[in-house]
Amino acid sequence: MVVETLGKVVVLAAIAFVVLLVLALFFCFFIIRTKRIIFPNLVLFIISLLYEPLRRLLSFFRIDPTLIDRVSVEIRNTINYHEFVATDLEERVLLLPQCIRSTDCPAKLNPVDGIHCMDCGKCGIAELNANCKELGVRMYISPGGTFTGRILMNSRAKAAVGVACYPNLHEGMLNAKLMGTPTQGVPLTTYGCVNTTVDIEEILNKCKMKTSK
Ligand code: SF4
Repeated sequence: MVVETLGKVVVLAAIAFVVLLVLALFFCFFIIRTKRIIFPNLVLFIISLLYEPLRRLLSFFRIDPTLIDRVSVEIRNTINYHEFVATDLEERVLLLPQCIRSTDCPAKLNPVDGIHCMDCGKCGIAELNANCKELGVRMYISPGGTFTGRILMNSRAKAAVGVACYPNLHEGMLNAKLMGTPTQGVPLTTYGCVNTTVDIEEILNKCKMKTSK
């Protein structure tokens, strides 16, 4: 009797798992194709619950697994919008990954607030730095995910724009949410460990998204 009940529970759990996987894939493809966000909290919940199985399933079918991260970032950008634009420019920070830097970057790491750009002009960060100073948005270059969390906490920012590859954005925006900071994510335009590229205009547009004042 116990074995029979246990068997039924296992079968039901397996069915629920498959149904959730199919549901998540349906929502993800729908959101990517139509650019319409539906049931955002439900989709984010399923993605967090089944993150690895979903990515493995996509890889199995030779589909880019970062599609899951992309959907997560798009949803968070949408649901964070109103909270984000309610902040002043001076309350916002721009968090950049160090992979954007040139391999000849002369900047040094400061253990408190990351890498200090020296405006040498060998990568796009110099342009972002100049524009951020003009806008009043504080810009930080982080050497890694844990460091980024520390910068966000120490800066006491009310909102943040994060730049990274989609998987890192997915993780970073989730962590920022747990810290109570509304974020906007901008993906890198080319990936890698060094000399990655970004869409400067897109980043600046996010940084200065209109405030409610
Ligand atoms: S512009 Fe700044 S971050 Fe980029 S390579 Fe020069 S010093 Fe490094």
